[in-house]
Formats: sequence, structure tokens, C-alpha cells
Amino acid sequence: MKFVKDVAKTQLNKDQITDQQAEEAFRTILKWIGEDPSREGLFETPKRVVKAFKEYFKGYHQDPMINLKKTFSDVDGYDDMVVEKNISLESHCEHHIAPIIGVVHVAYIPKTKVVGISKLARTVEVFSKRLQTQERLTMQIAKTLMEGLEAKGVAVTINAAHQCMTMRGIKKEKATTVTNCFLGSFKEDLSYQNRYLRLIAK
Ligand SMILES: [Zn+2]
Repeated sequence: MKFVKDVAKTQLNKDQITDQQAEEAFRTILKWIGEDPSREGLFETPKRVVKAFKEYFKGYHQDPMINLKKTFSDVDGYDDMVVEKNISLESHCEHHIAPIIGVVHVAYIPKTKVVGISKLARTVEVFSKRLQTQERLTMQIAKTLMEGLEAKGVAVTINAAHQCMTMRGIKKEKATTVTNCFLGSFKEDLSYQNRYLRLIAK
């Protein structure tokens, strides 16, 4: 059963916009804010922004499950939680295309398979390099790990600042948002959940 709907593929095939068309759109925005896109300092800017956007949104071209295909079972029966803390997060909110900057904590309890630790961060990366809400990002990471690792339980916590809130609008520069998702044993057994919360609080 597929937990996470992969919206990326359907969106991509619909209309293929060329780099040149995207650059032209940024040139229009530069004019619209009152700039002269032909002046020296800005001449190459649309090209650079397109390149940067390709990096910010590379997650649309990545399959989150690929990272979790290679697993290991030779771990001498390790069956406690694996916690990966403070994975740095850079994403963009889908309402303002403003940066979301923070950290992600991820934990899973293996059933039979464990995965290379870097793959947890890679899973975070695939979904964060798309336009997001923090709530959806939390759920997508959790459900993908649960399904991909056939884990007994998964916990995901995100603590992030949204620049659409800190730099504009209500301008609460110290506000951060915390979201959690608990699946399997982390949801059913509060002793797991509490140990996880203690471990990430340190
Ligand atoms: Zn926003």
C-alpha cells in the first residue's frame, strides 16, 4: 500500500517549462518590483535564480523510496529505537515561497531491517526540497520511513522558523513551530514516545 501520494511526477509531466521561460518570468518580476533587469548587477540574476530554484526544489525529481531500498539485517538483533537528531532543514513554504529553516529529529524502531543512517537525512531532504507546509512535511517523512523500512514505529519532530512569519506579515522573529508525528509503537506505547522525547530534548 502506498502511504504517500507522489504528486511530483504528475505535476512535472503536465507542462515542461524551459529554463529560458523561467528566466523570463524572473525578469518580469524584477521589472515589477521597480528594477532594471538589464543593468549590469542584475543581468545574470534570472539565470542565477533559476539555478538556485533548481536546488531549492530538486525534491520534485527524486523518489523518496529509493533511499530506503538498501537495508541491512545483520545487526545482532538490535531492536531498540534509532534516533537521528538535529538534521538541518531548509525548505520553502507553499504559501509565500519563503524559507523554512530548522531541524528535524527522526526515530524508528526496526522490525528486521535497518538502514544506513545517512538515508534518514536523505529522506528528509527529498521532501524538504519541495514547496511545503510543516505539517505535511512531518507526515510525509514519517509515513515514508514507516513504509520503506517496514518499521515497528516511527517518530518525526520538526522545529522550524518560517520566514513568512519572521520577515513579513506578523513579524514574530523568535517564533518557531513544532510538529510531531508518531506511528506504530511510538503512538501506541507512551514509554517509547516519552523516551524519544527525552532523547531529542537533550
Ligand atoms: Zn508562508
